[in-house]
Amino acid sequence: MKLLFATHNPHKAQEIRDIFLSSGCAFEVTSLVEMGDTRDIVESGDTLVENALIKAREGFARHGINCFADDTGLEVEALNGRPGVYSARYAGPKCKAEDNIQKLLGELHNIHDRSARFRTVIALILGGKEYLFEGIVNGQIVEQKVGVEGFGYDPIFQPRGYQITFGEMSEAEKNKISHRGLAIQKLIAFLKEQEY
Ligand code: IMP
Repeated sequence: MKLLFATHNPHKAQEIRDIFLSSGCAFEVTSLVEMGDTRDIVESGDTLVENALIKAREGFARHGINCFADDTGLEVEALNGRPGVYSARYAGPKCKAEDNIQKLLGELHNIHDRSARFRTVIALILGGKEYLFEGIVNGQIVEQKVGVEGFGYDPIFQPRGYQITFGEMSEAEKNKISHRGLAIQKLIAFLKEQEY
């Protein structure tokens, strides 16, 4: 049975497909790209849950296929949860990951409590019902960038219990403990229980 992942990011779609395959999940994941759908979905929500739901509902409305979508944010304790839902464009509308990192490091200058967490929310629409799954990884923001792996804030995020940042981890190593990996595992466990 087909399941639409409401994303335009081919890398994310492939990553999910690989995880589904290796977990023996029978659903066949397709994405907006494969549907020939290039229209943006405006993420107008104020929370990760709202944005994940907006994307999943829009994907389902456009294509009529059971659909899921994810939204992720980096929540920094000393900044009252910022950048959170605004993580992608924290430093401005057309900013790069490097701009976001520099803005965050600047805001945390001389701040002792550097606790932070990545949080992913996945919204699923299946058989006309809506479901939510959450994955969290706790850690801290290091003083300066370390590592060149991954993307986004990876070089400045050190997961709890590790002496290295996500930027120093292989993709496989990160996926085992990451926010997105955990949320996807919950989604897969749920899908496996369904009778489709
Ligand atoms: P998205 O909802 O997955 O598109 O994530 C929103 C933003 O959060 C991205 O543009 C990144 O800046 C940041 N982000 C999400 N996941 C990660 C991650 O695993 N590592 C580092 N940054 C991330």
